[in-house]
Amino acid sequence: MIARMASRFLKALGVTVTVGAVGAILLAERARPLRKQKREALPRIARNVAMGAACQAMIAAAEVPATQAVARRNAEQGRGIQHWLGGGMLGKTAAFLAMDYGFYLWHITTHKVPFLWRFHRVHHIDPDMDASTALRFHFADMLVSLPWRLVQVRVSGVDPETLKRWQGFFLLSVLFHHSNTRLPGGWEKTLSKVVTTPAMHGIHHSRKLSEMDSNWSSGVAIWDHLHGTYRDHVKQEDIVIGVDDPQAERDTELLPALLAPAREDGGR
Ligand SMILES: [Zn+2]
Repeated sequence: MIARMASRFLKALGVTVTVGAVGAILLAERARPLRKQKREALPRIARNVAMGAACQAMIAAAEVPATQAVARRNAEQGRGIQHWLGGGMLGKTAAFLAMDYGFYLWHITTHKVPFLWRFHRVHHIDPDMDASTALRFHFADMLVSLPWRLVQVRVSGVDPETLKRWQGFFLLSVLFHHSNTRLPGGWEKTLSKVVTTPAMHGIHHSRKLSEMDSNWSSGVAIWDHLHGTYRDHVKQEDIVIGVDDPQAERDTELLPALLAPAREDGGR
């Protein structure tokens, strides 16, 4: 009885913290904008929300059941990094970090493999960046990335609860670093040592290839520091957000964006 009440309390606390964090991000990007927006906000946000809803449906139908099934087998069979390290706090932390590092590697791959770039490009085409950009992914991208996600879950040996924690952290991180928030004082410098920040990810969304090919982290930021792919010497006001290809303008709109991966001319 007490255990059930404690579990309900923790769940309610988790929901409250998440709702509070999302609200804080949405307020912060309006109160302290990082970059000047070029386009009218509402049509762009509506497009991004529509694309995000399709992605969420795909995640709920395919990614969650598949990754949870592999995570359950990890726990039952005691396999993967988490269980090699004993399955306790050390193992859970290692599995959490392994999931995050797996995503860093995947993100680089989506830029370098032309077939995968066709899908990830749809995300980068957004001509302005704010929290709604975090929703702008092609729904088929969720399917294309599923095999690698299952490899991440299998190799990390993550258990179902730790997987949910990483997914929650990752979702908030993605919302935060896409937001158009100028962090106060030295926060940017300090935070970007640990987690992906809006200024850091803004450089990754630059049209310039030399800038786009940096700051690949999406959750924990240490991967960029460890691999020497971290970049901060770019002024935010000098960044032109988007993709430098002739079809980018057309593919900003909803229907062309959804059709873009099937076209021959959408490559890098
Ligand atoms: Zn990217």
